[in-house]
Amino acid sequence: MKHQCLFCGIVAGDIPSVKVFEDDTTYAFMDINPASDGHLLVIPKRHSKDLLEIEGEDLADVTLAAQRIAKAVVKEFGADGVNLLNCCGADAWQTVFHFHLHVIPRYVDKTKDR
Ligand code: 5GP
Ligand code: ZN
Repeated sequence: MKHQCLFCGIVAGDIPSVKVFEDDTTYAFMDINPASDGHLLVIPKRHSKDLLEIEGEDLADVTLAAQRIAKAVVKEFGADGVNLLNCCGADAWQTVFHFHLHVIPRYVDKTKDR
């Protein structure tokens, strides 16, 4: 395997993803197993394992991008609320060890939850 890390493979374009946003430091794409309509992930392009390891600069960039994307998601998907979620460590349900923020739109209409 070319990439040790799944999300590094996605950033490199070697593993397909549905991209919603990209700039110099940050990449955002749809979650393959969404918890609700519009569930997406925001990641730093530079690999770091988790919240405890990520550089402050990357964390700031990813968080700012997540806020912008959350605003767009509310507008585009008509979401009524948003969960911003990070799992840090296997015991906190982290399954992919490249830092990511989940942006999970929430709806009054519960049929939009998966
Ligand atoms: P975690 O459990 O680490 O907080 O979240 C990992 C997320 O990555 C999960 O929501 C899972 O559905 C998503 N995921 C895992 N593999 C892939 C993949 O290959 N492509 C995409 N787009 N999402 C993935
Ligand atoms: Zn990585």
